[in-house]
Amino acid sequence: MKVLKFGGTSIGSPHRMKNVLKIINDEKDIIVVLSAISGTTDELINIAGLLYRGNKKEASMKADILGKGYLKLIPEIYDTNKYRKEAESVINTHIDYLRSFTLKEFSKKQEKTILAQGELMSTALFFLMAKEHEMDPSLLPALNFMRIDKDGEPDMFYIRENLDRELKNVQGLGPVITQGYICRNAYGDIDNLKRGGSDFTATIIGSVLTADEIQIWTDINGLHNNDPRYIDHTEVIRELSFDEAAELAYFGAKILHPSSVVPARSANIPVRLKNSMHPEDEGTIISSAYSSSGYKAIAAKDGITAIKIKSDRMLLAYGFLRKIFDIFELYKTAIDMITTSEVAVSLTIDDNTRIKPIIDDLKNLGTVEFESNQTIICIVGDFIAEDTGTTVEIFNALSKIPLRMISYGGSKHNISLLTNSSNKKDALNALHEHLFKK
Ligand code: ASP
Ligand code: MG
Repeated sequence: MKVLKFGGTSIGSPHRMKNVLKIINDEKDIIVVLSAISGTTDELINIAGLLYRGNKKEASMKADILGKGYLKLIPEIYDTNKYRKEAESVINTHIDYLRSFTLKEFSKKQEKTILAQGELMSTALFFLMAKEHEMDPSLLPALNFMRIDKDGEPDMFYIRENLDRELKNVQGLGPVITQGYICRNAYGDIDNLKRGGSDFTATIIGSVLTADEIQIWTDINGLHNNDPRYIDHTEVIRELSFDEAAELAYFGAKILHPSSVVPARSANIPVRLKNSMHPEDEGTIISSAYSSSGYKAIAAKDGITAIKIKSDRMLLAYGFLRKIFDIFELYKTAIDMITTSEVAVSLTIDDNTRIKPIIDDLKNLGTVEFESNQTIICIVGDFIAEDTGTTVEIFNALSKIPLRMISYGGSKHNISLLTNSSNKKDALNALHEHLFKK
């Protein structure tokens, strides 16, 4: 059994949806996970924001525009009037539902319900399409089996039990189609796996069902060894370990949701990244199989804030780091990079929402400086500590780039550097020249 996940751009037009249908037509025994059609989730976030601010008229207008956009696609997606009518009624039901929120009091809690409409619409349309092509598909509601616990983590036990039950009831012999991203939380309310979370849905399903392979289909031939937006001649990485993929997904490569590597790694299920515009390309395979050592890829993560805490009290003291970490834990803010000296600690965060109380609390421990607009440049590969020369090559490459923090040795798969975002392009280029064009 395989799980195939298609992202929003892969189903972003009638032509592309038909392409996906062709791809899955050649497969047997598959579960298809779909994102919302590209742009939809952003639009739904807008609508929820308008409702939250009490701007009902504009919210209703935006819902109309969204609906019209979908209705325009329908004649092209389906060949027969029967299915066109059915699809129209699906879309009208969802848009009416969105509009119904303008008639009542809106609370933040309902936002998630609004966001869920994107995946509900895309899967309903795709299901009808597969039906029209006599593929005998089944539509499995993710809200019946996907669940997160109180900490926002997938509740694997619940998911396994309920997915098994749902699958037992499946009548169709063709592909099973389900929604990515959406789920219920510990209280049974509609929730989601955060932006880009459909990848996570796919790897969770793949791991609870012990799939042979999980495929993540996007519009690029797999993971590249550098950011194609800034570097001219990047290359696709054909093989990666789970550890390398986890570092890359977290530090910049937008192609894969960072958490999605976790279930696949723990169930040891290979993840293949494929391009729906070029299905013949083998893509990138992420697995536990050994792959060669050395540099694999360079990635960058923007929007980073660096924080430095300096205190003489740190000198020869223990417990100081714990006090710092407690503050970040209190405000549920993750630390990415950290470096220490005897009297100071520098660290980075990518989520600025609680920065003010964090800084206020840190000030009780020492003097605090912070600076935003930083970028983490991350070099991923398999670096063996005994190998000499790795760091020399990197620093030679970056001899003209001002570096603010350096982190090496945290794992053997990642060397991270912090620099001002204005240096990002130069740093990516310099590293590319030195490390990959030898
Ligand atoms: N539709 C959601 C988003 O745009 C989830 C996903 O695409 O994976 O973030
Ligand atoms: Mg995505």
